[in-house]
Amino acid sequence: MNYNIALLKGDGIGPEIVDSAVRVLEAIGKKYNHTFNFTPYLIGGCAIDATGEPLPKETVEGCLASDSVLLGAVGGPKWDTLPGNMRPEKALLGIRSAMGLFTNLRPAKLYSALKDECPLRADIVENGFDIMIVRELTGGIYFGERGMREGKYGEEAYDTECYSRMEIERICKVAYETALKRKCKLISIDKANVLDSSRLWRKIVHEMEKDYPEVEVADMLVDNAAMQLVRNPAQFDVIVTTNMFGDILSDEASQITGSIGMLPSASLGDNTRGLYEPIHGSAPDIAGQNKANPIATILSASMMLLYSFNLKEESDNIVNAVDKVLNAGYRTADLSHGKEYLSTVEITDKIIENL
Ligand code: NAD
Repeated sequence: MNYNIALLKGDGIGPEIVDSAVRVLEAIGKKYNHTFNFTPYLIGGCAIDATGEPLPKETVEGCLASDSVLLGAVGGPKWDTLPGNMRPEKALLGIRSAMGLFTNLRPAKLYSALKDECPLRADIVENGFDIMIVRELTGGIYFGERGMREGKYGEEAYDTECYSRMEIERICKVAYETALKRKCKLISIDKANVLDSSRLWRKIVHEMEKDYPEVEVADMLVDNAAMQLVRNPAQFDVIVTTNMFGDILSDEASQITGSIGMLPSASLGDNTRGLYEPIHGSAPDIAGQNKANPIATILSASMMLLYSFNLKEESDNIVNAVDKVLNAGYRTADLSHGKEYLSTVEITDKIIENL
């Protein structure tokens, strides 16, 4: 098959890590007989330098014309003093909204070879964990009615959590389908003991159960979920939750893996075109030194193969190659604790050798 991928390398380590992912995709293309065509577009600080704006029109058009989008990271000290709407990070919100991405998939996986990176006690993570958080991305309190007013105690500010049936159904559909691609275990996280919006959320989650008889679904209150993630993370397979709860819980889950350079993400909309990116930033402190860990971006590319192109075997091939390289003891600088480490290019070579 033939796939057109828009590349948004961005700033800092962005170009180095995206180049690594491209090399891995090219190797996968060769092995499985696919053609990946890559077209680079500017985003973030480099776009500001070249065109005066963080998200040029050509970039948006190029992404919308592609089959999928791979992003590195944006931002850096050079652009930190620009006004808010001219900052590189503004481009991230712009491209997500232009592509209509309402789902954020954030896996948090503890690789057995990296157990020592985990800040939790060894007995808690003895068997590792592999969680997929499905977060609603364009609704809820971050987008609800808000404002300032005079209240009972004088000046007050308010934000509103509001979810429609349509918004809940579409994110739950993604969550059920994601569970089907994994261990068929779904936990929906809400605050239904207090919030009406959560009660509607919970009702719809269970209405949809009949369409996915293979999936075992349960509810959990968000305060309990925050505790359970550090008490017994291995109990989770797929989590589905609202924008704000997902924002908080996905950061908690990424922290317990202990390695920011390893975590990919995907943002999806109504069609198969998605935006795939590592969860870390542009790491200006190590940019251009061939020292960045490219694995989060390589795993983002593997998510693209699965979620946008439905190429499960190819996607698993990348994940397994990363596993093998880590199990063989190879580490990048961020995971080396002062010991010997491989450069960005060298670890990429090792992953390609193990495909
Ligand atoms: P960061 O994630 O870039 O870096 C935090 C620390 O982690 C740094 O010490 C960095 O060297 C290290 N690190 C991050 N990714 C790594 C990798 N792949 N390999 C090895 N080490 C890695 O966060 P920050 O320093 O707060 O932000 C730097 C810039 O990135 C800022 O301009 C910020 O706005 C931007 N940012 C962009 C995104 C994005 O593009 N999605 C996300 C977060 C931050």
